[in-house]
Amino acid sequence: LIEIKDLRKKYIMGDIEVEALRGVNLNIQQNEFVSIMGPSGSGKSTLMNILGCLDNPSSGQYIFDSVDVSLLNDDELSEIRNQKIGFIFQTFNLLPKLSALQNVELPLIYAGYDKHERREIAREALDKMGLSSRADHKPNELSGGQRQRVAIARALATKPGIILADEPTGNLDSKTGNEIMALFRELNEEGNTIILITHEPEIAEYADRAIIIKDGLIISDKPTSGNTAEVLSENSLTS
Ligand code: ATP
Ligand code: MG
Repeated sequence: LIEIKDLRKKYIMGDIEVEALRGVNLNIQQNEFVSIMGPSGSGKSTLMNILGCLDNPSSGQYIFDSVDVSLLNDDELSEIRNQKIGFIFQTFNLLPKLSALQNVELPLIYAGYDKHERREIAREALDKMGLSSRADHKPNELSGGQRQRVAIARALATKPGIILADEPTGNLDSKTGNEIMALFRELNEEGNTIILITHEPEIAEYADRAIIIKDGLIISDKPTSGNTAEVLSENSLTS
């Protein structure tokens, strides 16, 4: 599903250059559940933004779903983003003035569904997250866990097949965080590919494979088996 070769990303601000990714090679198959860990500033979000076609690499190759993404123009990129990728963020990124239902409908508007279809799909997605009774509430009337479930319903509305989550449990207490991860497991068992950025080894344990990035390079890539905390400390990355 994802094939990355010698991927590099430089940010240039005036005369300061930061090389956030310095030659990343990575393959992810359909239906994998992968976590990405590493210290602050190591390049995790940069990699995620490129994987999600939100940003371009400076060099290297990125093949997504058999398409060389670096050859696409902005319109083609946003089409891939809208149809094939669901994003979930630490801060939920819900629109405060819209109800839960309207938030979930947003990507369906971009994807061109008519009003009736939109309502129906959005209701179903909220239902699946156990939020039918909260459909008309605004984000500030929901708990953190409920907000994140609205965000997940929104990410899944268009049935993207791949979910990119950047610290999805970062603003949640550990019980709620574990509930969200149990939900991710289910989504993975239903066939979704999941890529999860996290700081917490316990959260990474929900994935089947743990990738560790340091200074813009992948320094470890292993199956998870209750050993994530050890792998981090072996690489002197315990925070
Ligand atoms: P965190 O765990 O704190 O979220 P991260 O691993 O996600 O960190 P990135 O956000 O990918 O790290 O940043 C990698 C490097 O690139 C950092 O040195 C950062 O300062 C730099 N960087 C990230 N985004 C930009 C940007 N838009 N412009 C300039 N530099 C950036
Ligand atoms: Mg980040």
